[in-house]
Amino acid sequence: MKRETRLVHTPGHELVPPLSRATTYDRAEGPYLYQRNASPTVEEAERLLGELEGGPGPALLFPSGMGAVTSVLLALLAPGARVAFPHDAYYGVAVLLQTELARWGLELVSFDQTGPAPDGVDVVWLETPSNPLLSFPDLDAHVEAAHAAGARVVVDSTAATPVLLRPLEHGADVVVHSATKYLSGHSDTLLGAAACAADRDRERIYEFRTRSGIVAAPDPAWLLLRGLRTLAVRVARQSASALELARRLDAHPAVERVFYPGLGDATAARYLDGGFGGLLSFLAAGGADAAARVEQRVRTIRNATSLGGVETLLETRHRYEGDRVPETLVRLAVGLEDVDDLWDDLAQALA
Ligand code: PLP
Repeated sequence: MKRETRLVHTPGHELVPPLSRATTYDRAEGPYLYQRNASPTVEEAERLLGELEGGPGPALLFPSGMGAVTSVLLALLAPGARVAFPHDAYYGVAVLLQTELARWGLELVSFDQTGPAPDGVDVVWLETPSNPLLSFPDLDAHVEAAHAAGARVVVDSTAATPVLLRPLEHGADVVVHSATKYLSGHSDTLLGAAACAADRDRERIYEFRTRSGIVAAPDPAWLLLRGLRTLAVRVARQSASALELARRLDAHPAVERVFYPGLGDATAARYLDGGFGGLLSFLAAGGADAAARVEQRVRTIRNATSLGGVETLLETRHRYEGDRVPETLVRLAVGLEDVDDLWDDLAQALA
């Protein structure tokens, strides 16, 4: 069965999975003990997501993407471990590494993920593609080099989703997602996920999750199950609209540069199957004021943070990230609206 078909159907008697909120269970009646260890609705979402990623076992769910990132790093690494991370990694990941985790003894080295990672590290962290600069790493080359040196490769594939890319199939050790974004898909669920190539990594992260309590609750897991049913069609539509908007922005005189893997990134084209995703960025011509005016003038598109929902969102990123990104950088997270309505709105805002 194709992925699209598996996503739509829930196996068993009930066509829609039940939502189980119990925090504790009668030991004589079944396998569950306590919700922090495992619970049926969370497990069902983990089973489906694990299958989607093409790994050997279920995924693991966390209360947010950052919860997944934190848990993977703290569970798998020892104090003093060296982590190579892209200089354009998602801002929240960079801040977590440079503040909290550095305080606990992780050594950090940032690098350009479009080239080789530095030697002598324990983990190579990649983003497919990076948010918001949309750089794309050569996954196979990174996996080969890292494994030859005894390092793990962790891929944050939030922006690609398993519809377009399954990093475990390329030999990555762990894939993480902000499931808040495309996987849940409706801007109403904060969740994170990790899937592992090795059962022992999965077991270690699971043990850390149970001990730390950084575990997803049933309600968001149920909303994830609901969202996954339409993931394939949403990502296909968002990718098609984003490509169209990227092309039109690229030709617009008020736009200096567009960042989108679908505009000729040969590496991204080798890895992404079925589209280039719904996330893009552009530099507004005319300085920071021009970028701010685009933010203020959009009407259909909403000036809000996040990505992966059904509604198109846009924001400048310099206000959070400072000089990691240009002042004129506008990030556009394309939703499901009619593409011409989106273009009309962008064009009037750029004018
Ligand atoms: N990774 C990427 C690429 C993201 O874009 C985000 C959030 O924007 C995260 C991780 C963090 O996820 P969350 O906001 O669910 O904690």
